[in-house]
Amino acid sequence: TTSVHLAQRPTGLPVEETWEIRRTELPDELEEGQFLVVVDYISLDPAMRGWLNDVRSYIRPVQVGELMRANATGTVTASRHPDFAEGQAVVGPFGVTEHAISDGTGVTAIDTQLAAPPTWLGALGMPGHTAYFGLHDVGELKSGDTVLISGAAGAVGSVAGQLAKAQGCTVIGVAGGTEKCQWLEEIGFDAAVDYKSDNVLKKLREIAPDGIDVFFDNVGGEILDAGLANLRRGARVVICGAISSYNETSLPPGPSRYLSLLVFRAKMQGFVVFDYADRYPEAVEKVGEHISNGTLTARETVLEGGVTAFNEALQGLFKGVNTGKLVLKV
Ligand code: NDP
Repeated sequence: TTSVHLAQRPTGLPVEETWEIRRTELPDELEEGQFLVVVDYISLDPAMRGWLNDVRSYIRPVQVGELMRANATGTVTASRHPDFAEGQAVVGPFGVTEHAISDGTGVTAIDTQLAAPPTWLGALGMPGHTAYFGLHDVGELKSGDTVLISGAAGAVGSVAGQLAKAQGCTVIGVAGGTEKCQWLEEIGFDAAVDYKSDNVLKKLREIAPDGIDVFFDNVGGEILDAGLANLRRGARVVICGAISSYNETSLPPGPSRYLSLLVFRAKMQGFVVFDYADRYPEAVEKVGEHISNGTLTARETVLEGGVTAFNEALQGLFKGVNTGKLVLKV
């Protein structure tokens, strides 16, 4: 089988030399309690960039020489595990590899009748859970709120915006480029701001003159500042991520507008989706309902090329090649 391992820690954007492509033989036999998965789609996540840094974080960094960590979907093709039968479609932390031998840790069966495997890495997977818990538990979303989402055309952002719409909120998205902004309006966003051509701060003042109640930020940097400059009294700023800084080699400037939190009696809180693990089924159920009744469009961008195309695929996230969830087909 072919798999991708960390060869050396990158400075800035990962490059081909960051990785080692390894070819290994699968063992002839499984041990009791194990099963074999043939991987079909690998999730590409901005967080992967953080896992490459040797720093204290919410999860142990990937070590040099280790298989690159990734969520993936696949099919069980052999099993000596009581809960996973041959033929079962699954999602789990299989890594960037064509085959995985698993003991079931972190693995869940998926219903491919309800949605195709890539959706289980997107709206029905970790990004969808992030949108759901970030909005409701951290953002304390209420019907009628004016909601701002950055990184709005991505995996987390597009689900967050649609969930807020379904709850009767006014939703503004920020994304890069006209096509992504058009798509946001197609899936129900009330307005979309193209940060590549618009002055986001000014534009938000025009679109939401009374300010924003919930700001779900995936981007950080100038876009975080633009949102902070447009809050409403009692606003909740949800720090989901800051993709604009993940490849920076020096620290970004602090949020220069943070005093808005004082002026508007607002709060800003970060969160990690893993802390909601025992409630993932609730997120799957709620997002699944919206997909089934047509109030939520789950979209994925599927890249071809298999595991050896992993580096290029990962770079795609930072270039914004994706609309919806980015996955790599094995
Ligand atoms: P996306 O599907 O949103 O993909 C990344 C997108 O980010 C790109 O498509 C691109 O869209 C945008 N982007 C890339 N570089 C920049 C930049 N410099 N400035 C502005 N936008 C940029 O990824 P996810 O939905 O998986 O993740 C979104 C965010 O959520 C990330 O910050 C991630 O770290 C975070 N996250 C946090 C979790 C948590 O537990 N807190 C869990 C999961 C994700 P565009 O073309 O619009 O620029």
